[in-house]
Amino acid sequence: MKKYDYLVVGAGLFGSVFAHEAVKKGKSCLVIDKRNHIGGNIYTEEIEGINVHKYGAHIFHTSDKEIWEYVNQFAEFNQYINSPVAIYKDELYNLPFNMNTFSKMWNIKTPKEAKEIIEAQRKEANISNPQNLEEQALSLAGRDVYEKLIKGYTEKQWGRSCSELPAFIIKRLPFRFTYDNNYFNDRFQGIPMGGYTQIAKKLLEGSDVLLETDYRDFIAKNAGIASKIIYTGMIDEFFDYKFGPLEYRSVRFETEVLDTDNYQGNAVVNYTEREVPYTRIIEHKHFEFGKQEKTVISREYSSEWKVGIEPYYPVNDEKNSKLYAKYKELAENEKNIIFGGRLGMYKYFDMDKVIRAALDVCKTELN
Ligand code: UDP
Repeated sequence: MKKYDYLVVGAGLFGSVFAHEAVKKGKSCLVIDKRNHIGGNIYTEEIEGINVHKYGAHIFHTSDKEIWEYVNQFAEFNQYINSPVAIYKDELYNLPFNMNTFSKMWNIKTPKEAKEIIEAQRKEANISNPQNLEEQALSLAGRDVYEKLIKGYTEKQWGRSCSELPAFIIKRLPFRFTYDNNYFNDRFQGIPMGGYTQIAKKLLEGSDVLLETDYRDFIAKNAGIASKIIYTGMIDEFFDYKFGPLEYRSVRFETEVLDTDNYQGNAVVNYTEREVPYTRIIEHKHFEFGKQEKTVISREYSSEWKVGIEPYYPVNDEKNSKLYAKYKELAENEKNIIFGGRLGMYKYFDMDKVIRAALDVCKTELN
């Protein structure tokens, strides 16, 4: 086989951005992926004319203008603004936590009224310096919002009690005292018209790509195929779980085509009570304002990761962060391997941050 400058392991967003930049600089790249498609978890597949987010809803949002311009080179983005709805028993609320949520919860109208109720509930909980997700949520939105919209959802999603989870997970979401249902505070937001796969395809132009190719088998037969490796798989697996496995959450999707044009009236509906086994239902067509006769929905079930299923979310709590630090030290001693992306860096990354991290590596590596 030909020798390459880089072997990129994983055709997801991190690996694809790196390959694109490397090719631009005249380097040769071989990208391998164990799946039968490119794009990693941003992969979308057309079903009934609808772009289905096969690995969960991906909504692009960023405040980084450079990254927004970067990604717009590879697709035209629509005007989609994420405004999920939460269902708790027979009650329906707007997300993120804003005046629409508070007004429905307490039958009030003004920010002053909402603030007074939250303040009273915060006092009752007696929290001054929030140490975990539960305390953070109680302190930001009070007990009612926590009990109905946060506790059950979070415990389903993470399989841990809210008091054992880091506060940063809930700080991802806006809490605001305006009637604004935009789930993100970022300056730029949208969905690529025609799906995400085209982005990966364009990023990988000029690279050789091998699918259904497992790194271990491949490198055993092709040692020395490249001067350097960009590795975007699980960092603990790479080192044979030497210090023990890192924890991940996995997600399983039950996807259905329905013979109706509009099932739930919104792209994202969260089911926040503990008793409903799934966390949310995604109705994919609404990401692109689809007018198809049918619809495709995915129910999302969360579980602990184990060998043989897909890892999705790193569990960035204290225990795992310490363990990751040990793997990171090993990784830094691997002079010809760069670890990147959600699994290689063990980080709960949004897409814009993945692109930024990849471009940062490019800056040092390719100049
Ligand atoms: N969350 C919640 N209730 C909701 C939606 C989110 O409590 O209805 C919390 C939950 O802890 C979740 C976190 O907010 O893990 C982050 O949610 P986000 O929607 O950003 O998660 P992602 O889309 O990355 O799965």
